[in-house]
Amino acid sequence: MTNYVIDPPAVTAVPVAGGGLFPVRRVFCVGRNYAEHTREMGGDPDREEPFFFMKPADALLINGADMPYPPKTGDLHHEMELVVAIGTGGRDIPEAEALNHVYGYAAGLDMTRRDLQGAAKKAGKPWDMGKGFDLSGPIGEIAPASHAGHPSAGKIELTVNSAVRQSSDLAKMIWSVPETISYLSGLVALAPGDLIFTGTPEGVAAVVKGDVLEGEIAGVGSVRTRIV
Ligand code: MN
Repeated sequence: MTNYVIDPPAVTAVPVAGGGLFPVRRVFCVGRNYAEHTREMGGDPDREEPFFFMKPADALLINGADMPYPPKTGDLHHEMELVVAIGTGGRDIPEAEALNHVYGYAAGLDMTRRDLQGAAKKAGKPWDMGKGFDLSGPIGEIAPASHAGHPSAGKIELTVNSAVRQSSDLAKMIWSVPETISYLSGLVALAPGDLIFTGTPEGVAAVVKGDVLEGEIAGVGSVRTRIV
């Protein structure tokens, strides 16, 4: 018999292709991990170490549900990303062992209130309210690495109302999945249930109510949401 004074929070869970649910602990996101996107955001892809920000676990939007247009923004952007699901935790994980810590992969969207993020950047303030708002992380089913393997190359694409908006290749990531896991595990101990959004390719742009976003990553799966 526990002694919680309020009900404990529900566990956010992402469906796994083939059955079962992946319980989510934390959601890490990599910033500027494709050179062309780094340039479109005004950065220099040759000079940056990887950096990370977070979304709350309950900011995920599961199973193709509609995404309500969020408050306090007039510039909601899509960022199509490969998501890594950590199955086994660890700290200071060597690159050569990093993939042994991966349960699987999913397609996800790091939805961004770009105006709030831009204002925060300019003021040297945290990005959290530009990135970690409610329902800001649509995510598709997780493909277990035991079946799907570990994708290091392959098409990553997003359409909005069936028109291609983002199209690139996982091989263009500046920091590979093993490098990202190794680097991040040197900053914090990774734990089972952690997700890592690995950054978006170029082509980020605004969406409006009524838009249908459909993303696909070769060999991994898809993500879909409609802005309402
Ligand atoms: Mn992103």
